[in-house]
Amino acid sequence: MNAGRMLVVSGPSGSGKSTICKRLLQDPRVVFSVSATTRKPRPGEVDGRDYYFLSVEDFRQKIAEGAFLEHAEVFGNLYGTLRAPLAEAKARGHIYLLEIDVQGANQLRALGEEGVYIFITPPDFEELKRRLAGRGTESPEVLQRRLHKAEDEMRERHRYDHIVINDDLDRAVAEVRQHVGLDTASTEVR
Ligand code: 5GP
Repeated sequence: MNAGRMLVVSGPSGSGKSTICKRLLQDPRVVFSVSATTRKPRPGEVDGRDYYFLSVEDFRQKIAEGAFLEHAEVFGNLYGTLRAPLAEAKARGHIYLLEIDVQGANQLRALGEEGVYIFITPPDFEELKRRLAGRGTESPEVLQRRLHKAEDEMRERHRYDHIVINDDLDRAVAEVRQHVGLDTASTEVR
């Protein structure tokens, strides 16, 4: 089998999905979908690697050009998946990893985009609260917004092909790898 595959990973902030995605990306067969966003870069983030950081005008221009497969507003900023790199990654037989929110995943499903859709959850909501608060980087107001969004997202989890509980990082990564076919001998994605 040589066709690439799309892997969509969603989950509330604090679920540990970014850490899981970083681990998945250690496999050379997995390629990260670099989204465009109007959010300002955080310290350490690199344009073109973590995101394409665009102005609102440039982002809107790209919407008008039809450059996005999906786009959504999250926490007051715009985020979007670019169309072109997905097609290229698929043609190359890669597993193309999209770390996007539930609105984006819903749009892709509505478009009939085939792929493996995975939702990452923390073991329970109390743990999620602890993880979000523990970051210590957010104001109480932002924290509250993230918690509300997390609750909204959790309600959507049953729409995904698989729900992976992130109570143990190694196990959660292994589970995702299995769901996307990275650990079965018969799966050749290159
Ligand atoms: P952050 O600003 O913390 O990097 O991301 C905020 C949220 O936006 C996360 O849930 C992330 O998965 C989501 N996100 C990142 N890129 C995209 C994208 O291209 N499309 C959509 N719909 N959501 C995205």
